[in-house]
Amino acid sequence: DAELLADPVDKIRAVGGTRHPSIPLPIDLFGVRRNSAGLDLQDRTVLAEVAAVVAKTPAPRTDAVPAGRGGTETSAKAAVDRAVRGFAVWSRTPLEQRAATLERLADLLETHRGDLMAVAVQEAGKTIGDALGEVREAVDFCRYYALQARGVLAPQELPGPTGERNVLRHEGRGVWACIAPWNFPLAIFLGQVAAALVAGNAVVAKPAPQTPAIAGWAVALAHEAGVPADALVLLPGGPEEGAALIADVRVAGVAFTGSTGTARRIARGLLEDDARPLVPLIAETGGINAMIVDSTALPEQVVADVVASAFRSAGQRCSALRLLLLQEEIAERTLEMLAGAMDTLVIGDPADPATDVGPVIDQASYDRLMARRAAMAARTVHTVQVPADGLYVPPTVIRIDTIEQLTEEWFGPVIHVATWKAGALAETVERVNAGRFGLTMGLHSRIARGAETVEALAKVGNLYVNRSMIGAIVGSQPFGGEGLSGTGPKAGGPHYLPRFSAERVTSTDT
Ligand code: GLU
Repeated sequence: DAELLADPVDKIRAVGGTRHPSIPLPIDLFGVRRNSAGLDLQDRTVLAEVAAVVAKTPAPRTDAVPAGRGGTETSAKAAVDRAVRGFAVWSRTPLEQRAATLERLADLLETHRGDLMAVAVQEAGKTIGDALGEVREAVDFCRYYALQARGVLAPQELPGPTGERNVLRHEGRGVWACIAPWNFPLAIFLGQVAAALVAGNAVVAKPAPQTPAIAGWAVALAHEAGVPADALVLLPGGPEEGAALIADVRVAGVAFTGSTGTARRIARGLLEDDARPLVPLIAETGGINAMIVDSTALPEQVVADVVASAFRSAGQRCSALRLLLLQEEIAERTLEMLAGAMDTLVIGDPADPATDVGPVIDQASYDRLMARRAAMAARTVHTVQVPADGLYVPPTVIRIDTIEQLTEEWFGPVIHVATWKAGALAETVERVNAGRFGLTMGLHSRIARGAETVEALAKVGNLYVNRSMIGAIVGSQPFGGEGLSGTGPKAGGPHYLPRFSAERVTSTDT
């Protein structure tokens, strides 16, 4: 039935499951405190409010994606065909109208926050707190890019000595491929899409194969907000669809968040055909993110920030702490306190508001992390019990002898710890830099000179001093790295949107 297949939900069902294997019950959250700004995602009062809502509204809403709006394709070629048609219309839509459309989308996301949170919990195994954060960040991206667009994308007259009238314009480049990860299946997915759209591009959006349902919601709401169905086309699928999309020479730009390896393959793919225009690639990838702690740090704060950075979201953030570097003098005491804190973590059903750490995304991820733990069992400093059923990886701290021994990003609640000697702060930073990732770094120190040293030397996109290393806030903490961690520009920052545009200057003799 062609009519039925036009429905995004059916298309999503056709390409695979939409429920996380570890979630026992579907949930539905309505009536969560409205104002998301400043919401403390770990605030037990907020989570209790959510819990009350869960108890009152047990009906599943995963299937409630607004139907009949189309906009979904199962082949890359068909998706780009449609987006090319969409570009013809959307690129002529005035900037103000595009920005206002993002603001309507933000409103709709807020209206549907309960549904979106429920899908995030069910499909991605997000905890209630993380699901709240997910919707908040998606809303923030839409509002921030709308605001930014009116400034940075507006035509600008450039004064100068030429005696001519010079006008700089930002215009859409064409069809963008937006390829999103499963760990922020709404926020990063919509962040990329919103930026590309407000810059006047049409978009083919390919969500991660693990999280198509929430992407279906996002696209349906974008259409409801006023984005023409052909200007935003959802292409659910896996690496095959992704590769076919990149291979399509009509794709005029790519925004990608995922692994460094995939980013490299995309970059190569974009250069393969000599007849193809050179197109921009914005890649945001992983990191082996270190937190450096010196002997002046406040131990209680260090422990709280390590727990948040390493284990919240089950360690499934690009920004998460992977390598804890403790000054020798305080190492054993810090690890002892950390062990105590880890023992208090509530690990289990993410739909339970009391849960701190939920499951990892899928069996492959679970197997990989569990294999690492097993291989390093003799070097385990501390680990904790988890429920037997479900994809729960026990938060684990593994000791290594040198920074150089950690060469891989372990994307889960498994961190490595090494020590450094007094006086070796600069050398420690240089050795982390030598790993060539450059996403986040943490520093805990009460000596101003320590922070200055690290700031001067660290080759990372986001440096966090005396706080956790996760949860960058759109507009205040633009996020993204360098080196093996990505190309920039930073998402949620003032330089992001222009990268999605063609910059054109007209110089007229007056
Ligand atoms: N922006 C997120 C944070 O700061 C991480 C994004 C990612 O994992 O890709 O925690």
